[in-house]
Amino acid sequence: MGSWVRCKCDELVHKNWFCGAGVSLVASEDALDLPDGHQMSANQLVDKLFAESDMLLRCWNCARIILLNERGGEFVVKFFAPEED
Ligand SMILES: [Zn+2]
Repeated sequence: MGSWVRCKCDELVHKNWFCGAGVSLVASEDALDLPDGHQMSANQLVDKLFAESDMLLRCWNCARIILLNERGGEFVVKFFAPEED
């Protein structure tokens, strides 16, 4: 799948974190919770969040939200279209 995801509208959406494509992470409460007394540097926390969080992309063409989860060797993509007013 490389650095792109094909949206349901057929547009290619970049998922490369470092190319300025507006990629976000959806950090769960679990991912943000650290055990009591656990020391972790900011870099370690960022690595942990990358490993445990879904990526959130926005399709510029159709405004869909795209959630990506690459954990456990499985690649799961979910699309969410905005509701019509
Ligand atoms: Zn789209």
